[in-house]
Amino acid sequence: MSMGVPAKERSGAILTIDLDAVRSNYRLLRARALPAACSAVVKSDAYGLGAAQVASALYQEGCRHFFVAHLEEGISLRPHLALDAAIFVLHGPPVGTEAAFTEHGLIPVLNSVPQVQGWRAHAAMLGRTLDAIVQVDTGMSRMGMAPQEVDQWLADAHFLDGVNVLYVMSHLACADERANPFNALQLARFQAILARLPACRASLANSSGVFLSPSYHFDLVRPGAALYGITPQAGEVNPMRPVVRLQGKIIQSRTIGDGDHVGYSLRYTAQGVCRVATVSVGYADGWLRSMSNQGLAVIDGVKVPQIGAISMDSITLDVSAIAPERVAPGSLVDLICAEHPVDAVAAMAQTIGYEVLTNLGGRYYREYRGLARPA
Ligand SMILES: *Cc1c(COP(=O)(O)O)cnc(C)c1O
Repeated sequence: MSMGVPAKERSGAILTIDLDAVRSNYRLLRARALPAACSAVVKSDAYGLGAAQVASALYQEGCRHFFVAHLEEGISLRPHLALDAAIFVLHGPPVGTEAAFTEHGLIPVLNSVPQVQGWRAHAAMLGRTLDAIVQVDTGMSRMGMAPQEVDQWLADAHFLDGVNVLYVMSHLACADERANPFNALQLARFQAILARLPACRASLANSSGVFLSPSYHFDLVRPGAALYGITPQAGEVNPMRPVVRLQGKIIQSRTIGDGDHVGYSLRYTAQGVCRVATVSVGYADGWLRSMSNQGLAVIDGVKVPQIGAISMDSITLDVSAIAPERVAPGSLVDLICAEHPVDAVAAMAQTIGYEVLTNLGGRYYREYRGLARPA
């Protein structure tokens, strides 16, 4: 039986999530966006970090607007937030699910004419006005009403009967590239659409958009990634505090000789004598396989290379530069930390920080710093 051994010691790796850093990132974003309100995007379980924990902490910071992607995510989050917090569902109501939104106190983002019609019919059925956000497409061709549908809206005085439009929103495709001219084009399209509509509050900026000019802020900004420490502007100094620390545990270490191989398909061959440590984190934990022979780990501030292919449950490190007693079984190595943040890990995996975070696996022992006390 494992009853006497604490879960932290049983686990193969420890994921520490610093909610004080999330709060501090929220305050920075809110200050930059003022006088616009600042929401928090907590879709996909707050980018893998725990929507209930993150949203509760940000509620205490004064955040009252939360975004999730799916209806199901909204239903799961609702019990963790007081009713004065609005939970918006970005994908809107799949036809026939409208009643689940009102039952659970969720507000849809209406992305299409059929979604508008479904919500309007639901309002008529209940005999009351229902809140919603309406999304318009300004160039991503992903979600939101196309220009022809906006025309249909304007031509029909009853288009939104029974619907109280809290915000008209759109989403930026290239906001992480400050110099990309598509940002200004989307802004101009959004302003043109707003000019044709009856006066309404508006929302355009994601994390990166907050760091473009204030003309992108409108009445509500919608940061996600920056809350979690991901850099909002590619190639610029990251103003956000790191939130995540991932520590893997060494299972065993060995010394190998010149020409010896490491891991599946023998993807690494030692050039001289080399000390190898095996760590119990693998691609099944979201440690992306594209980091084979690429990544690194940090041991007491020293960067050590990842060698060989990433296995399902383990990786191998060249720890020749580290004292043997420091890499004994049970020792911890940093895989994500302040010296090697999520964005650096993502670069080595040829992806973005968002994918690294949202892949963080379910086998980690999770520790939260600065947890909100239950209200
Ligand atoms: C995910 C998402 C956001 C948050 O984007 P970040 O880049 O993580 O800040 C905002 N708005 C919409 C519509 C989204 O889908």
